[in-house]
Formats: sequence, structure tokens, C-alpha cells
Amino acid sequence: MEKSMQTVQVKSMFVNGEWVQAEGGDTLRVINPATGEEAGTVSYGDARDAKNAIEAAHQAFKDWSRLTARERSKYLYNLYELVRSHRDELAGIISAEMGKPLREAKGEVLGAADNFMWYAEEAKRVYGETIPSSVPNKRIMVNRQPVGVVGAITPWNFPVNMVARKIAPALAAGCTVVLKPAESTPLSAIRLFELIEQAGFPKGVANLVIGNPESVGQEMTDNPKVRKIAFTGSTRVGKLLMEGAAKHVQRVSLELGGHAPFIVFDDADLDAAVAGLFESKFRNSGQMCICTNRLYVHESVAEAFSGKLIERLKKAKVGDGRSKDTEIGPLINQRALDKVLRHIRDAEDKGGRVVFGGQRLTEGEYGKGFYCEPTVIADVTKEMDIANEETFGPVVPIMPFTDEAAVIGMANDTTYGLAAYVYTQNNSRCFRMAEELEYGIVGINDGSPTQTQAPFGGWKESGIGREGGRHGLEAFLETKFVSFGI
Ligand code: NAP
Repeated sequence: MEKSMQTVQVKSMFVNGEWVQAEGGDTLRVINPATGEEAGTVSYGDARDAKNAIEAAHQAFKDWSRLTARERSKYLYNLYELVRSHRDELAGIISAEMGKPLREAKGEVLGAADNFMWYAEEAKRVYGETIPSSVPNKRIMVNRQPVGVVGAITPWNFPVNMVARKIAPALAAGCTVVLKPAESTPLSAIRLFELIEQAGFPKGVANLVIGNPESVGQEMTDNPKVRKIAFTGSTRVGKLLMEGAAKHVQRVSLELGGHAPFIVFDDADLDAAVAGLFESKFRNSGQMCICTNRLYVHESVAEAFSGKLIERLKKAKVGDGRSKDTEIGPLINQRALDKVLRHIRDAEDKGGRVVFGGQRLTEGEYGKGFYCEPTVIADVTKEMDIANEETFGPVVPIMPFTDEAAVIGMANDTTYGLAAYVYTQNNSRCFRMAEELEYGIVGINDGSPTQTQAPFGGWKESGIGREGGRHGLEAFLETKFVSFGI
């Protein structure tokens, strides 16, 4: 990412229903990580732009929240149709700005569309309660109301769906939104907001600010008109936002980092487990919060399993995400590549054996991009960085185990608690593992445990709150107890 400080007329922020440039006039060049070439130039704002957008969202809140749910739902349906019909275009933008293989990018866009449809429906099911009173001349009613203006901040790894998972339930609940997308991936957010404009949402209901993360983030937490922070990103930034949100006791939803264990028992279907691991480790080049970060394989099947895994990796095509047959794209930037290579070298220094891959790819088409070979490391131990830190890259560290209780202890021995995976054909063990793992999401014989209608989120330092399904709507609602004297 390169910043250019010249003032140019780039109107790529959407505030109060208008396309505007940054107040300060700065711009930002977006770089394609597959080629190092420019993918676009956008406005680059700061707290001033965030403040304008928050004011617009604040002004729009009253009318938007007072619409009937059925009316709000119509706008979300329009958006669903538009996102679906622009699937290929949006996928192409995602691929160009962050390197994701086109097939995956198309899946991401359909996932985003599905969120708009789901919450268009769910908007109509915000039910309250009546509760029997213990006092004869009183009646208890419980209402649900939208929390207010939402400050949403999203990462680059799912640049369209992470936005959809916040703004769809927020708008359905009756909230208005200011979104700050990641600075690596503003282009898909801009296109999505053009579709939001086309869907006819009233002005100020959804606003887009691209800009300096500290400055925009601080305005969101300093400004008392923002009543909720909805964030997806690293645990480090999540903690900073949580501290900031304490000032005005803003509500927070945090979808943070992970360090997923993937456990293969001796009774597992090894072919299914390899397929599941490939999905959970190499999708998005290993840059997912729910990516496997520790592979525990029962020692009696460890050799057979790693043999099958390496055979699969030999066939995996690494390349520019825009090529049709690419399965694994580049990493997002040099910093990400450096971290992945550091984890590999640290593991080697501490006795790990690289049994497949292990290097940056630099020849030919790989020369200008940030490519790492899919990598398998054997003999990994708890002392290695890779066994504790999120790698966010295409590296599988293998740790053998012998006993169920021990592997549960190892799997839970982390500050993270987002996703965990188990492969076994023993039904009783399936239930035991599902109950014992301290994670918000457990995939049993499933390497891809995400669906629009299911609650997605982490335990421990992986986050607070849930996105997806009816739980995702809860995050944007307040509860009001009304006591009627009669
Ligand atoms: P990140 O550095 O935390 O950035 C996420 C967002 O926060 C970006 O928009 C970033 O802006 C912004 N940001 C950075 N510093 C900020 C600050 N001081 N105040 C306010 N906003 C700030 O994370 P990332 O590298 O983009 O994303 C990868 C992380 O996200 C991983 O840890 C991954 O596990 C996590 N993640 C979690 C989930 C989940 O659902 N649990 C899903 C996807 C990703 P800039 O881009 O402008 O820096």
C-alpha cells in the first residue's frame, strides 16, 4: 500500500447519499498483490470525514428506524438482487485488490448476497415479549429497538462478505451505519456502496469512509452519537477499540483472531480429513480467521496422513487469483509474507522439519507478487511461534498425539477460541469433542463450518458477540422493559 499526498478529485467516499472526496484531499493507491501493479486510486480520509458520516447517519436514524420492518426489508431485497446479479464483477474486483482465486471470490459474493436476503427476512421477526407480572395491577412488556448509529470496521480478507455480515443485520434492525473498510481493499467496498445507492436506501442510512485507521477509529469511539462498534480484525486492534468504546459505554461486537486446532483421530476417514484440511488451511491462501493453525494427528496415522496431504498439495495450482485454475493465490502484502516465512524459519531453528514447500516463490509469474509455497512442517512443538501465533498463510504444522484427553488439553491451551476441527468416525467421541473444545465454532468432520443462518464468533480472546443468523440481529438491538400500571 502506497500513500500519495497530492490532491486529486477522487470521489470515492459515500456520505449522506453523495459521493465525496476526503476533506483533506489525500488519496491512496491500491496495489494488486499478485502483480505489484496499481489496482486503483481512492480518497483517503480521516476523523473529519468520519465525523461528517456519523452526523449523516445520526440524522438518518430517526426516519430509518421508524420504517416498518417490511419496508426496510424491501431495500435489503433490492440489494440482494443487485449483489447477486453483479457477482462476477464484484468477484473480479476482490481478486484484483487482494489476490483471492476467482472461484472463491464468487463464492464470497454469493455469501454476501445471502446475508442481505437472510436479514431482509429476519428484519420481520424482531419479536418482543410479555411476561406475567407478580403485581396484579401491572403489566410487563419487553420491546426490542435498534441500538442507533453503528461504526463498522472490516478487514481485507473477505472484503465484501465481512461488510455484508455487519451492514445487513444493522440495517435490518433499524440502525444506520458508517463503514470503514480495510485500506488494502476499498475498491470492492466502493462498488458495493454503488449498489447500495442503486438499491434506493434513503440518504445517510449507509455511509462509507475510507481513511486513516487510527483517526477514523478514534472518531468512532470518541463520538457519543455512535452507539455500537462492530469490528472484524486482529485481537490487537479489537482490544484498542474495546478500550475506546468504554468511554461512552458503546456496545461492541468483536470478531477477532484465531488459532484453530485440527484434530485427526486414528479412526478418521483420512481422505475426507485431507479434503477438510485443504479447505480449512489453504482457502484464501490460509488468510482466514478460522484457518487451521495446528494440525494434531494421531501418531498411528500421522505418516499416512501427511503422505496423502503432500500428494494433494503437489496438485495445488498457486498463482494469480484471476487465472481460472488457481487454487492458492498470493498473500496480501510483503508484511504478511515476511510473517509466514518467519514462522517457517523459527520452526526449523527449533527442530521442525519442512517436509513440503517452505520457500517464497519468485520465478516467472511469481516474481512481482507475494507468493509462498504451500508448506508442511513436521515435528512441531509448543515452543515454536507457529504453535502460538496466528500464521495467516499456507503452512501446516503437524503435531502428533496419542491420547484423547491429552489432545483436548493441547487444543484448548491457547488464548484464542474461534474455530476447532475434529475428524473421527466414533459417534461418542464426536459428542465428547464438541463439548470439551473451548471454541465458538466446532467442525466435526467438516472443514468449512460457516453458513449464513449459523452464529459465527469466538470464545476467549477471539471475540465478543456473534454474526450470522438470528444471533447476528441481536447484536444491533437494545432491550426495553415497559411497565404498565393499569
Ligand atoms: P487489522 O489490522 O486488525 O485490521 C482490521 C481493520 O481494522 C482494518 O479496517 C484496519 O484498517 C482497521 N484498523 C487497524 N488499526 C486500527 C485502529 N487503531 N483503530 C481502528 N481501526 C483500525 O486486521 P487485518 O490484518 O486486516 O485482518 C486480519 C485479522 O482479522 C486476523 O487476525 C483475522 O483472524 C481477523 N479476522 C477475524 C474474523 C472473525 O470473524 N473472527 C474474520 C476475518 C478476519 P487498515 O486496513 O486501514 O489498517
